[in-house]
Amino acid sequence: MPARDFFHSVERIGPVQIGTHRNRRTGQTSHAAVCTAERCGWSADYGSRSAAQLAARTHRCHIR
Ligand SMILES: [Zn+2]
Repeated sequence: MPARDFFHSVERIGPVQIGTHRNRRTGQTSHAAVCTAERCGWSADYGSRSAAQLAARTHRCHIR
């Protein structure tokens, strides 16, 4: 995933990593939350870091 090259300020909350990156289309900073748990594959983009952190904290893997 080439977008990963632009990630900085990565932090981890549980199995979820949050990386800040610049959206090349809009030029805006966005915050991606990505679950690193095997076979989960959940990820989402947020406009603010606190939104991404909240999503990371409330994320529950649906795999067992
Ligand atoms: Zn997960």
